[in-house]
Amino acid sequence: MGGSATLHHPLRAKAMPGNFANLRVVLVNTSHPGNIGAAARAMKNMGLDRLYLVEPREFPAPRALWRAAGATDVLARAVVVASLAEAIADCGLVIGTSARERRIPWPLLDPRECGQRAWRESAQHQVALVFGREDRGLTNDELAQCGFHVHIPANPEYSSLNLAAAVQVLTYELRMAALGDAGGSVTQTWDVPRARAEDIEHYFEHLERVLVEIGFHDPANPRQTMARLRRLLARIRPDRMELSILRGVLTAMQNFVWRARSAERERAAAPATGDGPGG
Ligand code: SAH
Repeated sequence: MGGSATLHHPLRAKAMPGNFANLRVVLVNTSHPGNIGAAARAMKNMGLDRLYLVEPREFPAPRALWRAAGATDVLARAVVVASLAEAIADCGLVIGTSARERRIPWPLLDPRECGQRAWRESAQHQVALVFGREDRGLTNDELAQCGFHVHIPANPEYSSLNLAAAVQVLTYELRMAALGDAGGSVTQTWDVPRARAEDIEHYFEHLERVLVEIGFHDPANPRQTMARLRRLLARIRPDRMELSILRGVLTAMQNFVWRARSAERERAAAPATGDGPGG
């Protein structure tokens, strides 16, 4: 068939609608239950209903219900988890919010790009928008678990929005992207699914172990090495196959080092075990 070459081409472009069911909002360590309720309401107004709460200080709570108004169903279905890693484990795209400049610059989206990308990719995999604590936002470690950061370009002299207001702005942009999608924007499809946040965590745990084993990395004196490597991977956004190749390389390196070290140990032990070298 003439069409089969195109069919199997991994980069074939096709129009793809997004999917609200694959979009989630993650609130990390929220202090005020009222903000959780207001965020649920903001989400439902914009057509989203999957809320994840990472260690909320107070939840469930009457104040959350009051502020949720007609969105109590979103609260009722909210998933409470113990860590950000757990909330995003199955996600192929994780976007973290930031009210200010951070230590090392990261791949950055504005709210419009965030809405468009999140909507587009929600056709292919799970997508998370991650929001931080009222008093100090997301930690650097949490931001390093995100593929992109998004900043709402507010007044630079007063740039920090109320948590639920930030949820409103970003979910509004998602909705605008969804409404604009009727004509079908052109998206690239890939031959292998994107690596998920969980795969990337496992890769970095493995990588750090190996870098310590070979003496490249000293966890006591880290100097942002791991954060920079994380940013490198965030720019690349590897697929699952690419990531499993990288892990295979790590395992081969470990085996190589182990073999070399045990050979060394055997050589060192040899003189003590018997008729040592004469002289
Ligand atoms: N003082 C904190 C502000 C936290 S505001 C800080 O400096 O980080 C609480 C949360 O609302 C943030 O973690 C983020 O999720 C969201 N938020 C507030 N203002 C924002 C902005 N301008 N852009 C993106 N997210 C914002």
